Amino acid sequence: MDHFLYRDGVLHAEDVPVAEIAAAVGTPFYLYSTATLERHYRLFDEALEGLDHLVCYAMKAASNQAILRTLARLGAGMDVVSGGEYLRAKAAGVPGSKIVFSGIGKTAHEMELALLGGIRQFNIESEPEMEVLSAVAVKLGKVAPITVRVNPDVDAKTHAKIATGKSENKFGIPISRAQSVYAHAGSLPGLEVIGIDVHIGSQLTDLEPFRQAYRKVSDLTEALRAEGHDIRRLDLGGGLGIPYAQTNEAPPLPSAYGAMIREELGHLGCEIEIEPGRLIAGNAGIMVSKVIYVKSGEGRDFLILDGAMNDLIRPAMYDAWHDIVPLVQPAAGVAQRPYDIVGPVCESGDTFAKQRMMPPLNAGDLVAFRSAGAYGAVMSSEYNTRPMIPEVMVNGHEFAVIRARPSFDEMINRDTIPEWL
Ligand SMILES: *Cc1c(COP(=O)(O)O)cnc(C)c1O
Repeated sequence: MDHFLYRDGVLHAEDVPVAEIAAAVGTPFYLYSTATLERHYRLFDEALEGLDHLVCYAMKAASNQAILRTLARLGAGMDVVSGGEYLRAKAAGVPGSKIVFSGIGKTAHEMELALLGGIRQFNIESEPEMEVLSAVAVKLGKVAPITVRVNPDVDAKTHAKIATGKSENKFGIPISRAQSVYAHAGSLPGLEVIGIDVHIGSQLTDLEPFRQAYRKVSDLTEALRAEGHDIRRLDLGGGLGIPYAQTNEAPPLPSAYGAMIREELGHLGCEIEIEPGRLIAGNAGIMVSKVIYVKSGEGRDFLILDGAMNDLIRPAMYDAWHDIVPLVQPAAGVAQRPYDIVGPVCESGDTFAKQRMMPPLNAGDLVAFRSAGAYGAVMSSEYNTRPMIPEVMVNGHEFAVIRARPSFDEMINRDTIPEWL
């Protein structure tokens, strides 16, 4: 459920008509709902009630500091995958004790940042990384708390670009090698082994792959404990999917996910961490765009929008479907017609939808891309020298720009022309 609903025939974000925001900030822009972000965080938090747990929002999904602050105020931790994200989380007011550092390519510099600023744990993904972290920690006179990310070799049954838990993926260490890798970790002076980490992919619409992975983690917990490792924290990753089309059958709810975690892992007495990103932010954001032209082609009509693939790359990159709805609710029974919905970027891949059934639209009309809150703004670029579009947040009757659109001068003046030119 989200808080982008038609009221009196016009799309609202909570209590604010979206067109009003469009008039104030110009299109295109991203728009987030505080109430939806809060609701989604609470669903996860409540799903794990009774277990010692922390919900660490995977901030790569949407990392504006206003979003981080909204979640952190409710008690959320953060899962970060770079030094930049670590510093951004700190800037938003998240204490180091609630920040988990994931990712396969942490540099010594990033490790140092986190060790000095405070960190809940590092999720280690390889033996070379382990050795570097130990050396950095020893140099700083610290001990780094770690889990090792294991690759359980399960098929997450999701898009190939966001599956991470098969043996051919670059993530984690093969679970079959876990015991020797943990023995290695245990022998390094700068590390303290505290748990196990797993993350098998994103946009999972079935609990079964999670269950298979968590069973393997449960067995591994017991095996490692028998070898003397004090396994007391399990980081179960993120990945729960969301419905992208309103007509889709719904993926499992956080409550069902939480119940499954309890069933598979509750008996171990471990602290549980989860790292949801998409489910918290995805349906908490929309992208609003304007029709620039309606162009009639051979046998098809194109809706040319002012938003493009540089603003929302998911359709081009993952063949993603986004529901696209007009800001003015179409009259009941109005005849729909097919459009190819495209942006102005000079690539055929800049196509949001082909032959999408829509009510008739004209130049100047506004549309909203639903489910654009996760992996939307964070993946945007300035390709074609198009300014990064603003991010706006609504909270009840209020809204605020949380990242402003840069001016053309700001963009162009970032380049430096060398002396010799
Ligand atoms: C991307 C990622 C997540 C979040 O995945 P979602 O599908 O957005 O929930 C969590 N943990 C790790 C390690 C990730 O890389």
